[in-house]
Amino acid sequence: MWSYQHAGFTVHQLPVLRDNYIYLIESRTSNALIAVDPAEAVTVRNACKLLGKPLTHIFNTHHHWDHTDGNLALKKDFACVIVGAGHDADRIPGIDLAVSESAPPQVDGLNITVLNVPGHTSGHIAYVMDDALFCGDTLFGAGCGRLFEGTPAQMLHSLNKIAILNGSTKVYCAHEYTLANLKFAQAIDADNPALIERIADDKNSRRQHLPTIPSSIAIETSTNPFLRPLDGSFCQIYATAHNINSDPLTVFTDIRRRKDAW
Ligand SMILES: [Zn+2]
Repeated sequence: MWSYQHAGFTVHQLPVLRDNYIYLIESRTSNALIAVDPAEAVTVRNACKLLGKPLTHIFNTHHHWDHTDGNLALKKDFACVIVGAGHDADRIPGIDLAVSESAPPQVDGLNITVLNVPGHTSGHIAYVMDDALFCGDTLFGAGCGRLFEGTPAQMLHSLNKIAILNGSTKVYCAHEYTLANLKFAQAIDADNPALIERIADDKNSRRQHLPTIPSSIAIETSTNPFLRPLDGSFCQIYATAHNINSDPLTVFTDIRRRKDAW
């Protein structure tokens, strides 16, 4: 378990399954203890024991099993409140509180915003708490989620909502995919100095068995191949190299297509 301090809360990062992360958000001003996307229950239960606190909430970003499989067992243990997207409520196991951009969850001691970010799934949401972003499978370290239920236009719109957050915002995504994603990024953006620096940093972290996550919005906007289309000069260079139109959607769609075939 790794822990990160924010102004009013601590984020504990729990690696589970092959490459998933569950996050525990521990408020320092209330008894709130939130599990984000509990892929399984045992690891969360043990972490709660270690912290000496009961789980008060589960926040789901989307319905996939590797984000929700712990829901019902943890609800049985702790009678915690399960929070998920209102427009996807019938696919979130045990949901108690349906939220949206206009109706975010109210939790004592925490300032929470919800973003609708369809693309990976139609009902995917992200949670923003001050300078922490919990974005599930929408944005990854140097990558983005596959478009299982959405269009490239939807995903690009969702990623744009994330990209305009403050650059210092920490990106707590749900998988450790960064090194594999960086290989692809290098293939399409080889001359980017920020990318070259990131590859060295993240390889070093993994050599020491440390997570590459959280990254930050500033790191992602400068190196993530799925956020680079938001930069007009990148689009020009990419479009010329691949003989396509230089509008952001055409560039994004081409990069996503290449990654799917990678
Ligand atoms: Zn997913």
